Amino acid sequence: IEIIGAPIFNERNMLRGAVLLLYDITHLKKLELMRKDFVANVSHELKTPITSISGFAETLLNGAMDDKDTLRDFLMIIHDESTRLQELIEDLLKLSRLEKDDFKLVRTTVDVNSLVSEVMPIITQRAEQKGIDLKTDVADDVMLEAEAQQVKQILINLLSNAISYTPESGEVRLAISEEDNNVHIQVVDNGIGISEDAIPRIFERFYRVDKARSRNTGGTGLGLAIVKHIVDVHDGTILVDSEQGEGSVFHVYLPKSEEVSSQSMG
Ligand code: ADP
Repeated sequence: IEIIGAPIFNERNMLRGAVLLLYDITHLKKLELMRKDFVANVSHELKTPITSISGFAETLLNGAMDDKDTLRDFLMIIHDESTRLQELIEDLLKLSRLEKDDFKLVRTTVDVNSLVSEVMPIITQRAEQKGIDLKTDVADDVMLEAEAQQVKQILINLLSNAISYTPESGEVRLAISEEDNNVHIQVVDNGIGISEDAIPRIFERFYRVDKARSRNTGGTGLGLAIVKHIVDVHDGTILVDSEQGEGSVFHVYLPKSEEVSSQSMG
C-alpha cells in the first residue's frame, strides 16, 4: 500500500486537518512485474537466434567457408535462425496491436467456408510434410460477424500447433458448426497432449510445456497468447480438453454477431 498525505489549511493559514490517500498498488506492482518479465523473455528470445547467426557467420569468415559442405550447413542455420527471428517479430507485432488500448475490432460478415479454403493450402502443406492425415468437417453457410484476418489467425495457429505436437502419421481434424448464437470451432489432434497442470499456463506468452521440443518445432511461444487475445476481443471463449499421450481438443466459441455477444454479456 502506498500512502500520500497532505495538510489542509483554512483561509487564515491555520491547520484544519489532513487528507490521506491510501492506494492499493498490489495490482500495479503485479503488472509491473509482468512487464519486466515480458521484456526479459523477449530479450532472451531475440538474443538466442542472433547469437547463433553471428557465431556461425564469424566462424565462416574465419576460414570455415573454404569447405563447401560446411559453408552450406552454416548458411542453412543462418537462414533458419533469421526466419525464426522474423516470425518472432511478426508475432510480437500482432500481440502488441491486439493489446493496444485503442484497439478497435473491424467486424464484417465473414463466410467461414471461404475463410477455411484460404487457410487450408498453407496447413495442408505442413500436414503432408509430416504425413499427417488432415480432415475438415465444416458446416455449410456458416456466417460470422468478425474480423476475417483474426479468425484466420486462430485457425492457422491452432492447426499449426495440432500438426507440430502430433507425431508423424497422426491425425488432425478441423470441425466448424453453429451452436445457438455461436460458431463452434474445434481443432482435434491425437498427438502428445498436455498435462493437467500445464493447461492453465499454455496461453501465457512464451510458456512452453517442453522448451526443447517446442524450439525444434519452430514455434515462437506466442501462438496461443495471440489466439486467446483474438478470442477475447471477439467476446468469445476458448477451452482445452487434453490428455497426455492421447491428444488435444481446442474449442473456440465465437458469438455470431456483435449484438449476440453484448446480449450474452448483459
Ligand atoms: P509454441 O510456439 O511453443 O507452439 P504456443 O503459444 O502456440 O507456442 O503454445 C504454447 C505451448 O502449448 C506449446 O509450446 C506446447 O507445449 C503446448 N501446445 C500447444 N498446442 C498443443 C497441442 N495441440 N498439443 C500439445 N501441446 C500443445
